[in-house]
Amino acid sequence: MKKRKMENKDIKSETSQQHVASGYFGGLIHGIGSLLTGMKTTMTVFFRAKTTEQYPENRKTLVLPERFRGTLTMPHNEQNEHRCVACGLCQLSCPNDTIEIISEMIETEEGKKKKILKTYHYDLGACMFCQLCVNACPHDAITFDQQFEHAVFNRKKLLMTLNHEGSKVIEKK
Ligand code: SF4
Ligand code: SF4
Repeated sequence: MKKRKMENKDIKSETSQQHVASGYFGGLIHGIGSLLTGMKTTMTVFFRAKTTEQYPENRKTLVLPERFRGTLTMPHNEQNEHRCVACGLCQLSCPNDTIEIISEMIETEEGKKKKILKTYHYDLGACMFCQLCVNACPHDAITFDQQFEHAVFNRKKLLMTLNHEGSKVIEKK
């Protein structure tokens, strides 16, 4: 009887050791499998064409998408003329009160009253680059350029005047 008990104990101990061994090797194989899966992903990404921009080292060669919105600008031609008629639609469409149009009434050579742009204020620090102003302009007088380096120590430097000094609107012929 005692001998049988001893045999049963040995069998139990052996079975338990087998369980431990199979658990150990199972875990090891699973771990190696996970490691190889991770390494495969790492190697795939390592040899893939790089898309990261090394900014600012690549500042001179940096190519931004055509529709990138950097800074709101008012293009002027060689005669220092722009296309803004001071209608104020861009100011009305701006949700952030970023634009302020200062206009004045003048009398033309024909004696007609005409509203012209005096100053186009733009607060770059308040702009969220939604482009609603550009879309609202019926004369394509404003657009976004690709200048995006806006960091300054004083927010006042972000207050801009978009119309150039001495500029005027392009007269319709
Ligand atoms: S982009 Fe948007 S927030 Fe900026 S000035 Fe235009 S309408 Fe205002
Ligand atoms: S930029 Fe365009 S929408 Fe704004 S005031 Fe001038 S013409 Fe009007």
